[in-house]
Amino acid sequence: MQPPALAETKKEKKKQKRKREEDASTPSDPGASREKDKDRKKRRKDRSSDPSSSSTPAQHTSAEATPAPSSSETSAYLEKHAIKIHSPGHIGPITPALSFDQLDIPPGLRSAFSTFKEPTPIQTCTWPPALKGHDVVGIAETGSGKTLAFGIPALAQLISSAPSKSKSKSSSANLSVSVLVLAPTRELAIQTHDTLSDLGGKFNIASVALFGGVEKGGQIRTLQNANKDGKTTRIVVGTPGRILDLVNDGICDLSGVSYLVLDEADRMLDKGFENDIRSIISHTKQGEDRQTLMFSATWPEAVRRLASTFQRDPVRVTVGSDDLTANSRVEQVVEVFDDARSKDNRLIAQLRNNKTKADLEESRTLIFALYKKEASRVENMLRGKGYSVGALHGDMSQAARMDALQSFKDGRTRFLVATDVAARGLDIPNVGLVINYTFPLTIEDYIHRIGRTGRGGRSGKSVTFFTGDNHERALAGELARVLHESGFEAEGLKKFPMTIKKKTHSAYGAFFRDDIPAPAAPTKIKF
Ligand code: ADP
Ligand code: MG
Repeated sequence: MQPPALAETKKEKKKQKRKREEDASTPSDPGASREKDKDRKKRRKDRSSDPSSSSTPAQHTSAEATPAPSSSETSAYLEKHAIKIHSPGHIGPITPALSFDQLDIPPGLRSAFSTFKEPTPIQTCTWPPALKGHDVVGIAETGSGKTLAFGIPALAQLISSAPSKSKSKSSSANLSVSVLVLAPTRELAIQTHDTLSDLGGKFNIASVALFGGVEKGGQIRTLQNANKDGKTTRIVVGTPGRILDLVNDGICDLSGVSYLVLDEADRMLDKGFENDIRSIISHTKQGEDRQTLMFSATWPEAVRRLASTFQRDPVRVTVGSDDLTANSRVEQVVEVFDDARSKDNRLIAQLRNNKTKADLEESRTLIFALYKKEASRVENMLRGKGYSVGALHGDMSQAARMDALQSFKDGRTRFLVATDVAARGLDIPNVGLVINYTFPLTIEDYIHRIGRTGRGGRSGKSVTFFTGDNHERALAGELARVLHESGFEAEGLKKFPMTIKKKTHSAYGAFFRDDIPAPAAPTKIKF
């Protein structure tokens, strides 16, 4: 399923217009940057003494074996993928790793790519600075491999900081959690934890997932039993509330965290999470001793200032437009109508309609509602009509949530009705269709919701019901803009005001200019 040709032409034009940005401004504090470079050199040196690489140095230092791309190759690549890199002057230009063998990582980590042909654009451009120890902001469309973009450098660092076997007796006791990944939802934390555990396992690096909704006991035991099955817990992936809880109980020690990731960073920095994040970060290593990475598919102007307070001279990589952009492989259809009561019939019609597609045997459909009660009602309605359907929302126990998600992933249920708790980050195989039964509260959530399909280079489709009720009316202009940017139009939206509101951050909005119009501040709501 290809987006219309119109989208392609528009994108090409935009790409040509876009100029690569290589900022060569001078560092504000040259002394500090020298110190930083010293530190980074040490990290690189540490990495080269990695025990797993010492027997095969030629492979580990494959960056030497495979020459870095020429500058013309690099420029052509950046142009082709509409990549902008902002690299502070003292760091200098970033050379992307255009193929996996240009990457300087322990050989054992390469199995992570065994089924992939080439790195995705966000990976090519964020791996080199992240591996050198720099702070990074990485913005790229949904489903473009951001988990490995921060995961591979995290593991590379852990592997290089592990003591060699001969020394392990004396120093393993000092090993602590040094990688912390923060995620907005329990399911995303579990998913990222699974990815990092799988990759870290063969290096005896364990990860623990800390999230609410379940007893703390199991998580406490895992943390206290830091050396389990010969593996050492070096990674924590979790949601802010439970992490902070365990930190305050004195059970989770973050003082050794030198690699911090905010996945879905704009969500983590918005007002619902901001205070928890601030508090968690205060328990990690400070200043130059911590590398901080932020990744998302959306990066509203309103959170950028706050983000910068947690980072030091980050390298910023943006793949695609600076504006809100939806995944280019997702077809976007918007049905505009007045009568909200016709939604059920329209939903059934859509499900029937899309059933005729040959690929649907394997395909799953994710239906987004706005409220928990609404999700539950739609789930029951579909079940009543004979659909094998599950639900995922905040009124369910964590066990039921995990069960519903697993059934959907396995294909035991082919339909899942969810609130925005499932909007971000989840990588569910074969979601061919996303239906927005009720429009989300922000345009960012729309981008993330439809990004549950069209992942890892595949194509997908989204159908959005838009009635203009309540909050929807104010978002019509932003939706029209996102559609237009992607090469789609919805005539019906034109009857609504096309104004685009500025988004302000609760703490910072009043104090800094918000030049780029962005959506309204998200309402605090529990999904
Ligand atoms: P994002 O965080 O950008 O939304 P994910 O990290 O969840 O995306 O990755 C989406 C999917 O793409 C995953 O199934 C992942 O295994 C796959 N993937 C990651 N890197 C690559 C790659 N280089 N080539 C192809 N697929 C990839
Ligand atoms: Mg992700």
